[in-house]
Amino acid sequence: MYWNFPIAYEEPVFRPPSEGKSLLIQQTIGCSNNKCTYCNMYRSKTYRVRKDEDVLADIVKVAEYYDKMGTVPSKIFLCDGDALGAPTESLVKSLKQIAISFPKVKRVGIYATAENMLEKTSEELELLKSLGLGIAYLGMESGCDKVLHLTVKGNNSSEMIEASKKVISAGIELSVIAMLGLGGKKLTESHVLETAKALSAISPHYLSFLTTIPVPGTPYHRMVERGFEMLTVKDLIGEMRDILKNCQFSRDVLFRTNHVSNMYPVGGVLPADQERIVNLLESWYEEAPLGTYPPKPAHM
Ligand code: SF4
Repeated sequence: MYWNFPIAYEEPVFRPPSEGKSLLIQQTIGCSNNKCTYCNMYRSKTYRVRKDEDVLADIVKVAEYYDKMGTVPSKIFLCDGDALGAPTESLVKSLKQIAISFPKVKRVGIYATAENMLEKTSEELELLKSLGLGIAYLGMESGCDKVLHLTVKGNNSSEMIEASKKVISAGIELSVIAMLGLGGKKLTESHVLETAKALSAISPHYLSFLTTIPVPGTPYHRMVERGFEMLTVKDLIGEMRDILKNCQFSRDVLFRTNHVSNMYPVGGVLPADQERIVNLLESWYEEAPLGTYPPKPAHM
């Protein structure tokens, strides 16, 4: 016998690829920044922190559902775009309820901006860690301040590094996302070098790349229409190769490009697999097409 899933999400809902099998709980709605020029994920939503009682009721209801189904999720992911921006007291209540309702859950994950991380004290982050918060996902996108400014990311490179180190010091694993092609042709060189520098300084537990796609309706798409020069497929592979070539990590970093935006999926543990992946990208670079990805529509 099947029961209807008991909670109604406020759509659209997003989660990282590695949280594909996680139970999603909405702690916040939308994104507190909601300005990044390339992003349309939460443009239809007005940011708000959900009421504690509503979040807790969702956790209890969905636990009853899993109980009836005779199964349990192994991971839980707190949405939306930067759920770490919720007040610490609210997150504490959610994590405590998760521990009661889902005692077998192995990890709770969360999306976070650098701003969210900087706003929390180290003690608050340690408290959240002690209550089960296992991993935070940060869209750093670039280590280049010009690119971060151009895309209205809301934090500069040194803030990204400081925030990341703070989360890692609290014992929370960190997954960092960088975006290939974000600075276009003009800023590609500094995007590569500064991103490699920031990633090396952070040495996150996990690293992934996304490919910048001009999504219709976004300011980034309008920039492309007005002549902003996107990278070709060959350039994108070259950026990935050169970022990785310039990274010097101080811990093992699990690297993957499994996001749907990427044409070339690669992965491994860095630095052990760094040379192999760089060589692989070099061979792809030689053969790569010179068009843009995705191809530009005829009117652009
Ligand atoms: S912080 Fe993330 S979710 Fe929010 S607008 Fe920027 S890219 Fe989108």
